[in-house]
Amino acid sequence: MPGPKYKRVLLKISGEGLCSSGGSGIDGEELQRLAEEIKLVVGLGVELALVVGGGNIVRGHTIAAETSIEETTGHYMGMLATVINAIAVQDTLESKGVPTRVQSAIAIDRVCEPFIRRKAIHHLEKGRVVIFAAGTGNPFVTTDSGGALRASEIRADVLLKATKVDGVYTADPMKDANAERIAHLSFDEVINRRLGVMDVAAVDLCQRGRIPIVVFNLRKAGNMRAVVMGEDVGTIIDQSGK
Ligand code: UDP
Repeated sequence: MPGPKYKRVLLKISGEGLCSSGGSGIDGEELQRLAEEIKLVVGLGVELALVVGGGNIVRGHTIAAETSIEETTGHYMGMLATVINAIAVQDTLESKGVPTRVQSAIAIDRVCEPFIRRKAIHHLEKGRVVIFAAGTGNPFVTTDSGGALRASEIRADVLLKATKVDGVYTADPMKDANAERIAHLSFDEVINRRLGVMDVAAVDLCQRGRIPIVVFNLRKAGNMRAVVMGEDVGTIIDQSGK
């Protein structure tokens, strides 16, 4: 039996991965589904770290545009939202027997550990899933950048970007029936064609660290495991693009 393609994985899930389609907040069934997918991957002996978004609760830019809340405050609210999501994912995983630690970029010491890189790596080596909360800890960026940053810091072999579709397409698959999945792209193509897979800053950071990105559909059971096993699932973005 071939082993997994990647030994250390950074999974980026958006807040919308935790709520029902088109909804907001946190949905128990989606949490269960996510935890099952993660458990399958952990069962392969893979070290898994997670960066969770907060868009299911609040996005800084949006709340500032709709209220009199200052944009910077909105971004801090967004980061705190990711902490709420992180501890929700933590309890769900632990209810399934998967050991975890949450580390936050903003100190909330009653709730979780602070982000300490060497400690995070130690947890991974011990087989614990490490959930990184509060993004980068800085306003005006997103958890995509947080994902790329943490992937670089822990020297992940790959960044898995979970989405609602099967990868990067030639057009929007939700709107165009002729849209085709692109199996392989280079970092340069993603950046130059502004394909909107992730923030350009996040893609750039992965390129500099030579960390491939795989964009895949989180809503298909067993898909994350298939990606980690190196199956032809989703879109792989790397240096060569071939
Ligand atoms: N955020 C931030 N700094 C970070 C990460 C996130 O200010 O390093 C804020 C930002 O306002 C963002 C919100 O937190 O809109 C939620 O994160 P994100 O939009 O990345 O969540 P996702 O879309 O992945 O659910």
